[in-house]
Amino acid sequence: MSTSPARITHWIGGKPWDGVAERTGSVYDPATGERSATLDFATETVVDEAVAAANAAWQGWRNASLAKRSTVLFAFRELLNNNRRRITELITAEHGKVLSDAAGEVARGLEAVEFACGIPQLLKGGFSENASTSVDVYSIRQPLGVVGIISPFNFPAMVPLWFAPNAIACGNAVVLKPSEKDPSPANFLAELWAEAGLPDGVFNVVHGDKVAVDRILDHPTIRAVSFVGSTPIARYVYGRGTAAGKRVQALGGAKNHMVVLPDADLDVTADAAVSAGFGSAGERCMAISVVVAVDPVADELIARIKERMATLHIGDGRRPGCEMGPLVTAAHRDRVVSYLDAGVAEGATLAVDGRGHPVDGEAGGYWLGPTLFDNVTPEMSVYTDEIFGPVLSVVRVPSYADAVNLVNANPYGNGTAIFTGDGGAARAFQNEIEVGMVGVNVPIPVPVSYYSFGGWKDSLFGDSHAYGPDGIHFFTRNKVITSRWPERAVGVSTQGTPAPGNVNLGFPRND
Ligand code: NAD
Repeated sequence: MSTSPARITHWIGGKPWDGVAERTGSVYDPATGERSATLDFATETVVDEAVAAANAAWQGWRNASLAKRSTVLFAFRELLNNNRRRITELITAEHGKVLSDAAGEVARGLEAVEFACGIPQLLKGGFSENASTSVDVYSIRQPLGVVGIISPFNFPAMVPLWFAPNAIACGNAVVLKPSEKDPSPANFLAELWAEAGLPDGVFNVVHGDKVAVDRILDHPTIRAVSFVGSTPIARYVYGRGTAAGKRVQALGGAKNHMVVLPDADLDVTADAAVSAGFGSAGERCMAISVVVAVDPVADELIARIKERMATLHIGDGRRPGCEMGPLVTAAHRDRVVSYLDAGVAEGATLAVDGRGHPVDGEAGGYWLGPTLFDNVTPEMSVYTDEIFGPVLSVVRVPSYADAVNLVNANPYGNGTAIFTGDGGAARAFQNEIEVGMVGVNVPIPVPVSYYSFGGWKDSLFGDSHAYGPDGIHFFTRNKVITSRWPERAVGVSTQGTPAPGNVNLGFPRND
């Protein structure tokens, strides 16, 4: 146990910030409840410093060759791969998720880096020779400038890696504002970027809260903002950022339904429900939080889910065998626990009470075991609210059509899944469900990095999804060039070259 907690500060212009913080916060180890670090919180002036460093660096980086950019990206990929263990430990120490889960987060982040390594291919434009006589038309995609990334606590490495590699590969400079709850992975990424040869100032990190976020949203030099977090803040970020003239993609919260038809393989389905409901203590935007059991499957399915829940090993993510860690803060744990009483008061059946689950960890940790509610109905707060904890609800419905109507009536539309042995039902589901990411017998359908990630409805504000092809589109703007060159060389046809003195006020036509 450390007696003097470390200080974590911003990363600006290729090195740790050396100023004196006017505002600070605390970072905790969720598995022990101990304060592990003091975190500098950025003022507007500190954000301005980071933006100035980014803007100065961008002037050079925007003209770095594609060969140079992909060399840096490949080097970053190697460093990230070689430092998997270290970054995993940093995640677990501040977020609380178990080491194996943190390793999965890093693996998915690596995939996003690998996609960005292909930037020379991804930035190819189009070329039309002789669009008009002797006139060529071609398009190029150019970087935006300085872009902001604002990320949530639940994926402190992966979400920054969804955005920063594409943004940098496209020739932008980045100011990242990670969650104040688990800031260390962002700083470690900054060190790796520097070691990979990225010029100073192209990747910056400012820590803090709403003060930093608001300055990023208002700053006139910042051209675009990628945000991931809860729906109320995503809506706010989108409104304020776009009002300031920025391009904004704001990914929000979720309430993901898993529809189970009576012909599903119930052992496979129960495995999936428990894995996707309680992995990372339910603190995933793609966690399953509602099982929609189509009659008459509920009783048999619930029995199998309960069997599996009873055997889950809950505790400090650094201890061997632990499958689920604590919640991120004491306040969040208390909020999640409050839903257990609310659900009972509203008439749901508390089938498994996570407060009784054994814990392999320190008493001061922010624990709550896996919890199951049965007979949940759509008006109850356990159904309407994003709980973001290890609480799984079962809603019983009479038919497939009722299941689809329930999912489509929900304001969130991040992920969903159907479990069935019927290909026709699965195909109908993927066609009519109003959700951005759909799994067929796959409970957490996070797209691979060469597709893009995004929900519908209140789960995403803006029209670009994250990473993949949408990411390249988001971090660049299109320029189309229409070009005609005088043909003066001896022996070259002069067809289509206007003769001098040929003034024509008509609108240019192609012929
Ligand atoms: P959050 O909305 O509380 O915070 C996200 C970011 O916004 C953080 O950097 C935080 O410092 C900042 N922030 C918080 N309050 C703010 C305010 N009032 N004004 C300005 N900025 C503010 O989210 P969280 O608790 O860190 O993360 C969990 C949420 O993120 C869940 O709702 C989860 O579903 C969502 N999430 C969504 C996705 C997705 O891809 N759709 C992915 C991961 C997490």
